[in-house]
Amino acid sequence: MSEAPRLGVLARWAEVLPLTPETPRITLGEGDTPLVRSVAIERELGVDELWFKLESSNPTGSFKDRGMVVAVAKAMERGAQAVLCASTGNTSASAAAYAARCGLQASILVPRGRVAVGKLAQAVAFGARIVEVEGSFDDALVLARTVAETHPIALVNSVNPDRIEGQKTAAYEICESLGDAPDALAIPVGNAGNITAYWKGFTECAERDFATLHPRMLGFQAAGAAPIVGGEPVADPRTVATAIRIGNPASWQPAERARDESGGRIDAVTDEEILDAYGLLASAEGLFVEPASAASVAGLRKLSGQGTLRGGRVVAVLTGSGLKDPETAESHATPDVARAGATLEGVERALGL
Ligand SMILES: *Cc1c(COP(=O)(O)O)cnc(C)c1O
Repeated sequence: MSEAPRLGVLARWAEVLPLTPETPRITLGEGDTPLVRSVAIERELGVDELWFKLESSNPTGSFKDRGMVVAVAKAMERGAQAVLCASTGNTSASAAAYAARCGLQASILVPRGRVAVGKLAQAVAFGARIVEVEGSFDDALVLARTVAETHPIALVNSVNPDRIEGQKTAAYEICESLGDAPDALAIPVGNAGNITAYWKGFTECAERDFATLHPRMLGFQAAGAAPIVGGEPVADPRTVATAIRIGNPASWQPAERARDESGGRIDAVTDEEILDAYGLLASAEGLFVEPASAASVAGLRKLSGQGTLRGGRVVAVLTGSGLKDPETAESHATPDVARAGATLEGVERALGL
């Protein structure tokens, strides 16, 4: 039996996206990511079911591709020949990939010295023009917005509503896989576009009778970059989880609305809690994610420890691949490495056989 080809987000979800007959149906095979049941952390948390949405399975290794495919297609429909974004890394990797695919120029503004090496390597490989800004992500985003207002270049950050539209399709996929929405969704929060997009998706699913439930939205920021939790912007955000190292989220209010309308919460987790969850996801679940993604599981463990995590069916969004950030992987765990000569005896001895 032959497998159906992967349609991609535009073809698969055309009826819920702002497409016209003129929107080019571009794709790199994004979306349709696995929803995988937990084998270990579910028991630790004491919930009925824990599922992981593996957004690392997208073409450039993060969920950003879902929104980027819509943003780039709509930009092309409007005649754009160049796209621009500010990025902590994954947005630029994704923008650069779709631009390369579609023959557009991609320019990216990244905060100098704060982007994981794998993400920058992707932007380089895809041929993006890279500008390292001496400042934070928040500074870079302000500059990108200003440049896009005054020059013929399309801004593809998540302030672009087409990004949110594309990203909401993950909520539709979850409802489709589970037959309903989950009781709670755990998600890392950086610029807060993704929690906004999921809430939009779940709300639409309920309106369209794809789901009977509205999940509680459980968002988690890093303690050193937790403006929504603290109630004010953070001038110098710091965390090992570079993808959520953001001090003034662009979608701050929509994220608060998602929290409040869903009866959820937005909480902070320390870098230590993030790295513990990061290690546990790899060693106990076989899931190698980037540190920001582990914030969702770190947050669930924190709530469970406090006795405030209700049971039921929970989905944790694992937003990006561990391969993006090999430096954290190498510095976090002590490798179990033995040396051996190129002989059978040497290898057997090294293996303890
Ligand atoms: C972008 C990103 C986030 C944060 O998403 P926001 O929409 O900015 O809140 C989390 N994890 C990864 C891997 C990301 O690339």
